[in-house]
Amino acid sequence: MHEYSIAYDLYATAKKAALDHHATQVKKISVDVGKMAMVNPEQVIFLFDMIKEDDPLLKTAVLNCADVEPETKCHCGYAGNEIYVCPLCGALPEVVRGREIVVTNVEIEVAD
Ligand SMILES: [Zn+2]
Repeated sequence: MHEYSIAYDLYATAKKAALDHHATQVKKISVDVGKMAMVNPEQVIFLFDMIKEDDPLLKTAVLNCADVEPETKCHCGYAGNEIYVCPLCGALPEVVRGREIVVTNVEIEVAD
């Protein structure tokens, strides 16, 4: 399942960040989800919650997904949000942003 591997990747990324920083707890993970990534954020959050259950380090972590609008450009010079047809020349624009799933921030708690 597509969403499951994404949820697991996010879990693994947060876990690694936590271990690298000797965290006692992961509080929040912020993720940018491109609207063209073909992913259902609610399902990713649901699966993430299932995966983190057994991990004391991430048990209370909240996954926060932000929608990212697609950005495209065309060889004619057009740059905007049209993903199918360039409004200037009618060609198929190139997607420069909006397909990616990126962890933007991992909030952790560190013991003193
Ligand atoms: Zn064009």
